[in-house]
Amino acid sequence: MTHPSILRHATQAVRVDDVVIGGAAPIVVQSMTNTDTADINTTTKQVHELAIAGSELVRITVNTSEAAEAVPHIRRRLDALGCKVPLIGDFHYNGHRLLTEYPECAKALAKYRINPGNVGKNRKGEDQFAMMIAVARQYDKPVRIGVNWGSLDQDLVVRMMDDNAKLPVPKDVREVTREALIVSALQSAQRAEELGLSRDRIVLSCKVSEVQDLIAVYQELAKRCDYALHLGLTEAGMGSKGIVASTAALSVLLQQGIGDTIRVSLTPAPGGARTEEVVVAQEILQTMGLRSFTPMVTACPGCGRTTSTVFQELAQHIQNYLRAQMPVWREQYSGVEEMTVAVMGCIVNGPGESKMANIGISLPGTGETPSAPVYVDGEKTVTLRGDNIAEEFTRIVNEYVARKYQKK
Ligand code: SF4
Repeated sequence: MTHPSILRHATQAVRVDDVVIGGAAPIVVQSMTNTDTADINTTTKQVHELAIAGSELVRITVNTSEAAEAVPHIRRRLDALGCKVPLIGDFHYNGHRLLTEYPECAKALAKYRINPGNVGKNRKGEDQFAMMIAVARQYDKPVRIGVNWGSLDQDLVVRMMDDNAKLPVPKDVREVTREALIVSALQSAQRAEELGLSRDRIVLSCKVSEVQDLIAVYQELAKRCDYALHLGLTEAGMGSKGIVASTAALSVLLQQGIGDTIRVSLTPAPGGARTEEVVVAQEILQTMGLRSFTPMVTACPGCGRTTSTVFQELAQHIQNYLRAQMPVWREQYSGVEEMTVAVMGCIVNGPGESKMANIGISLPGTGETPSAPVYVDGEKTVTLRGDNIAEEFTRIVNEYVARKYQKK
């Protein structure tokens, strides 16, 4: 689904097992584990959690021989769990060695991420890059050429800075660095093609940590190529800062039709769920009308007319409930992810918003009659009272879902 106001930038479609990135395919959500890949149990568990949360591709670090040895075991365990999510191997420095010395790892991965800034220098770097592309060709695997501001090829930057300094009016250093990111990605992609990798096996990314830089880089990248593009603000940060920065950057680009797959790189709070980055990525796409993943809850912010926390608790309960049900509902029902539910704090906007949602409830504000009218498809169907409003409303939602979205 693409919102009618958005014209997607035309890109090559890249197949990664059963998932397609680019072309006319829906924008794909991906994530990355933060476990030690050599720890098979913990990594399998986290990949599985990310997949259940809705991650359609999961990237794992492959940085040591132990990690490379673990990859096929992780794949087998996921398969045994019925989890088909494609695994992407993230390689830096020693990817050429790990991919050639551990063929079972190379085969078990669905895609390889190569960072041109971290494959080695000069002739050695070229040879190591060629070794990785050769493995990708041998096993028919797509590759993401993922350039990153923090690990940009320094020889290229120095060369471009020197050339810039000779110009009558040299460009700003930041502008030259942005250009170096783009050149690094495009030259590496061109080299991969010269080595025999077809265009429909290449995804590009140029990740930076500043919103305006990311927008400028991807706008330029989209003008200059038709490779499928992976979007993400790298090192976005923690909590609301990370969410807001990622959302700001990605939304501008997505609105311009740029981006075929996204990752939200959040730093989890200590003990926090890794799956948060999947939820945020889905919510960015869903609130922009680009895809639907889970029923959306419209809730008012509350104000002086709601002095109790009842409505906040109900809004939170319903939101958590709907998301928790989705792994099961997805199998049983069709279109349920497009359902809208309104949970409102009083009669000022409550009935109006409730009528516009599939199901809505308007809780009593301060001084209002202690009753909660429920609207289904725009019609008032029942008024709930008493201490079990949350349970009764949940039951109404369940009945509605079973009635309206049952698979034919
Ligand atoms: S719907 Fe009522 S409680 Fe909610 S913000 Fe508006 S006036 Fe306040």
